[in-house]
Amino acid sequence: MAASDPVLWLLLTTGACNLRCSYCGGSFESRVVPYKTTYDLSKLRKLMEDDPEPTVIFYGGEPLLNPKFVMEAMNSLPAVRWGVQTNGFFVDLLPDEYWNRMSVALLSIDGRREVTDANRGKGVYDRVMRSLSKLRRFPLKIIARMAVTRLTDIYVDVTHLLNSGFDQVHWQLDVIWSEKWDVWSWAETSYLPGVRRLVELFVNELERGRVLGLIPVLGVLSAHFFEPYRASPCGAGYRSVAVSSDGRVLACPIAVREKWAVLGHIETGFKLMEPELPEPCNSCEYRRYCGGRCLYALRENYWGKDAEKVDEITKETIKSILSIIPKAEALMERGIIDREALRYDPILDSTEVIP
Ligand code: SF4
Ligand code: SF4
Repeated sequence: MAASDPVLWLLLTTGACNLRCSYCGGSFESRVVPYKTTYDLSKLRKLMEDDPEPTVIFYGGEPLLNPKFVMEAMNSLPAVRWGVQTNGFFVDLLPDEYWNRMSVALLSIDGRREVTDANRGKGVYDRVMRSLSKLRRFPLKIIARMAVTRLTDIYVDVTHLLNSGFDQVHWQLDVIWSEKWDVWSWAETSYLPGVRRLVELFVNELERGRVLGLIPVLGVLSAHFFEPYRASPCGAGYRSVAVSSDGRVLACPIAVREKWAVLGHIETGFKLMEPELPEPCNSCEYRRYCGGRCLYALRENYWGKDAEKVDEITKETIKSILSIIPKAEALMERGIIDREALRYDPILDSTEVIP
């Protein structure tokens, strides 16, 4: 690892999860991702010493099913920023002093109660909302992390979460794990018109001097006004690594079975990947904003030819966001918006930018 590159370290505290969401399937098998960490934290600490500004985000399974490891890691690793991606069921298992040190919590919730509970299980929405209200007592940013399915009305669900007290909202399309579905018809009639309305809402708020917490919009604008993405915006393999509970260092936290994703091991060290993009991404006009979207999807290509439909959705989403750049520039010139307010680095929050 080059000493000058700050890295996002996603630490899988366990492969177990208490839920079985419709698009995910729940826990990893314990022989693939053990349910307790099996490596020596001091070895991880040693590797992290080369990183000038490590960000550590706890991940799983459900990371708070192993609060002991979270506490041990926070007591011994040299991170400058801490966070957690959680389903919100076990926030009480982590003592307040640790929540006080967290910078960001990503709570999984899909929007309105009926959408969230249909995807994730009955009662999940209320449970997450209770956790949100508890976590509001601490000085951390809280991001709603949505999975978007055909049940989603993207405008209604995203605005519902923003109005419910989340600081920011990020979403990802259900286009990797599930059986193929007619994503394009749904996108044309429901999703893309909703995305355009969200972009309009974003620019209306910008005119009032406010930056709405829509992470896909912020992430694309940031790549326009500041640094482009060299590859997947999540940083998979070149700016972020996932440490599995067995000590393997992986390029992506869901690629726990794939050989291409293994970068090394806590015991022996690891090497970051070069941020390379295959065709058609390499010569795509949206490359700067998209970075090939998701490395896992590019490598595994579960959807085969139908992945092109997802690509069309990505391009239409980026186009609609880019359409507000002239307005944003005019607002900067008039001093209504500070250019820096549009800077967004997904590595600091463990988000993917492109849905
Ligand atoms: S829009 Fe599609 S082709 Fe272009 S960089 Fe993204 S994933 Fe690749
Ligand atoms: S966006 Fe894709 S490559 Fe990046 S962390 Fe998620 S699944 Fe892995």
